Amino acid sequence: MPLHVFWTCQEVFRISVLLFSANCSRLSISLNAADKMLLPSFDLSGKTAVVTGCNVGLGAAMAEALAAAGCDIVGINRSAPDKTIARIERHGRRFFDIRADLSATSAIADIVPRIEQSVPTLDILVNNAGIIRRQDALTMSMADWDDVLDVNLKAVFFLSQAVARHFVARNVPGKIINVASMLSFQGGIRVASYTASKSGILGLTRLLANEWAKYRINVNAIAPGYMSTENTVALRSDPVRYEEILGRIPAGRWGEPEDLGGAVVFLASRASDYVQGHTLPVDGGWLVR
Ligand code: NAD
Repeated sequence: MPLHVFWTCQEVFRISVLLFSANCSRLSISLNAADKMLLPSFDLSGKTAVVTGCNVGLGAAMAEALAAAGCDIVGINRSAPDKTIARIERHGRRFFDIRADLSATSAIADIVPRIEQSVPTLDILVNNAGIIRRQDALTMSMADWDDVLDVNLKAVFFLSQAVARHFVARNVPGKIINVASMLSFQGGIRVASYTASKSGILGLTRLLANEWAKYRINVNAIAPGYMSTENTVALRSDPVRYEEILGRIPAGRWGEPEDLGGAVVFLASRASDYVQGHTLPVDGGWLVR
C-alpha cells in the first residue's frame, strides 16, 4: 500500500476512535444521570431496625448488614449481645439493647413501648429469633411442639402486630422481614414442629402483606438455605448428613451468615417498596435443584 494511502487510513481510524469515545462518554454521562433517577435507594441512613435474636448467627450478620447500610439497631435478645454491639458500632451506628424472652407472649406486650422510649423512629422489624427441636414425629413431645411454635410463629405474629400498630398509628411506612426456611417449602425430617412453624411463616407473610400493604407496610420473608450457625451444629457434626446436604447445594458450599446481607438490606430499603408477601430463598440454589 502506498505510504500516503496508509497515512490517510490511519488518520480516518484515529478520528473514528475519537468520535466513538466522545459518544460513549456522553452516553455514559446520560446513563449515569438516568440511573440515579431510576434506581431506588438502598441507603438506610436515619432508619432504625429492630432485629430479634441478634446476639449470634444470622441475626447478628443481618443486623450488621443493616448497620453498614446506615441503620441504627435495636436488638431484642435473651442474653448480652456484646459481640454484635461491637460489630454495629464499627459502622458508626448505635445499638439499643432490649432484653426479652420471646417464648412468652406476655414479654411482647411492652417491647414496642420500650423501643419507642429508646429511639426516635422505628422503621424496620426483622423477625429472626427461632429455635429447632429434632425428634421423630412418632415421639415428639407436646413441649417440643409448643416451644418451637411459640418462638417461631406466635411471637412473630404478635410482635409484627405490635410494630404494625405503631406504623399505622403514626401513618408511617414500614418494613417487616420474617425469617422462613427451606422447610417453608419442603417437608424435612425429624423436625415436625419446625416445619410447621416455618411453613406457617410463609403463609403468615402472605396474609400480613395482603392486609397491611394498604398502610405502606411491606411484609416479606427471607428463606435461608443450610447456613453455618448454632442452629445447624447437630447437622454439621453428623458427617453423613453434612456431606449429603453439601452434595445437593449447587453453589457447592454451606451458606455463611453474611450471605443474607444483600437480601435483608434490599427488603428493608425503598428498593423493595413494591415487593409484597414474597419469601426470598437465599440458598445457594438448593430449591431449584
Ligand atoms: P441461632 O441458634 O444461631 O440463633 C437463634 C437466635 O434466636 C439467637 O439469638 C437466640 O438467642 C434467639 N432466640 C431463640 N429463642 C429465643 C427466645 N425465646 N427469645 C429471644 N430470642 C430467642 O440460629 P440461626 O441459624 O442464626 O437462626 C436464625 C433464624 O434463621 C431462625 O429463625 C432459624 O430458624 C432461621 N434459619 C436458620 C437456618 C440455618 O441454616 N442456620 C436456615 C433456615 C432458617
